[in-house]
Amino acid sequence: MILGYVLTILGGVVVGGVVNWLSDQLPFLGGSDEDEEGAIGEISRPEPRGLTLPRCSKCGKQRHILSFLGVTAWLLGQRRCANCESRLSFRYLAVEIALAVIFCFLWNREGMTPMFGVLTFYTSLFVLISVIDIEHRLVLNIVMLPAFVFALIEVLISGRISIAEALVGYAIGQLVVMGFFLLGGVYLWIVNTARKEPVTEVAFGFGDVTLATFSGLVVGMPKVFPMLVLMIVLGGLIAFLYILYRAVIVRDYHPHIPIAYGPAIVLAAAMMLLW
Ligand SMILES: [Zn+2]
Repeated sequence: MILGYVLTILGGVVVGGVVNWLSDQLPFLGGSDEDEEGAIGEISRPEPRGLTLPRCSKCGKQRHILSFLGVTAWLLGQRRCANCESRLSFRYLAVEIALAVIFCFLWNREGMTPMFGVLTFYTSLFVLISVIDIEHRLVLNIVMLPAFVFALIEVLISGRISIAEALVGYAIGQLVVMGFFLLGGVYLWIVNTARKEPVTEVAFGFGDVTLATFSGLVVGMPKVFPMLVLMIVLGGLIAFLYILYRAVIVRDYHPHIPIAYGPAIVLAAAMMLLW
């Protein structure tokens, strides 16, 4: 029993390390679907290259082996890069601890069953998507395409929901969110006809449509409806808190601050999947 928890925590930390590593490297592999234009920030590091061992996010030098994982970097005092002295961000530790906690919760509920594997895979995937969306405002095709393939196979094999329920969930997710996407376009068109300098950020980017469609497929019929409602509520809440943070703490509020909606979508999907 205790051994099971220890192994589950270790598994969560290691998968968290893999999620951190992929979050660092996948956005620079190319093949990305730009979610919100103009908000890409610092995507101008050296040439895209294949996957390499974990590197310092500031200078690109390979990290010390003890700082491959956030947990070991913190525990063993290896947070600073040997080359540029910059510290490993808190995100590494947070992702590993979050996944270890979620894995324990799932292990406690599901035991060592195939469903444990399926649910830990989806939660890890959702964390990966959220981290990349928050840091780069991107939903990557290189993540979403394999995710769609996995979800289709999983639904066919596991029988968690029927394939018909999954496909109807897919269609409803796509229709509703496509509606938001088009409304966003209409909104931009109205704002831009009234302004001299055009606004280019899209409130709800195409990457969000892909993500909501995927979530609809995974969650399936009837749960796709509460998922969409949750998505809107959480999206509004996150946007409100973020704007409040920018206005009160950072003091640089302006309308049309780009906000990552990906986390709200995957959070809603995860809640429907787990409860
Ligand atoms: Zn460095």
